[in-house]
Amino acid sequence: MKLTHIEHLGIAVKSLDDAIPFYENVLGLKCYAIEEVAEQKVRTAFFKVGSTKIELLESTDPEGPIGKFIEKKGEGIQHVAFAVEGLQENLDELAEKGVLLIDKQPRKGAEGLNIAFLHPKSTFGVLTELCENPNK
Ligand code: ZN
Repeated sequence: MKLTHIEHLGIAVKSLDDAIPFYENVLGLKCYAIEEVAEQKVRTAFFKVGSTKIELLESTDPEGPIGKFIEKKGEGIQHVAFAVEGLQENLDELAEKGVLLIDKQPRKGAEGLNIAFLHPKSTFGVLTELCENPNK
């Protein structure tokens, strides 16, 4: 494995319109992108903090992963995303080590990144995302 940094923290919120002003006006961050990821049934809002981002996630469908997360646990940190070099090789290595993978192959996430999720059962309860920037 070669993790380079925490790419982002994914935070589930009920409403981007309610949450963005807190991040901008109270924490002083700037929302630089809002993007809908239809496949994931979410709308995302991004903020930069150093080399790490905050990804706010608003559900667009109660049956989607964020809708279900909020229903079960309420708003809060939903996943941690690490930047990694060589996503497919890393997934193969993790599978060999017996780590449960939600995605055995990378798929497209927000911001054009290739992403894959590891199952929280294998990561001590933390939904873990690996991200690779294909343009690097
Ligand atoms: Zn994410």
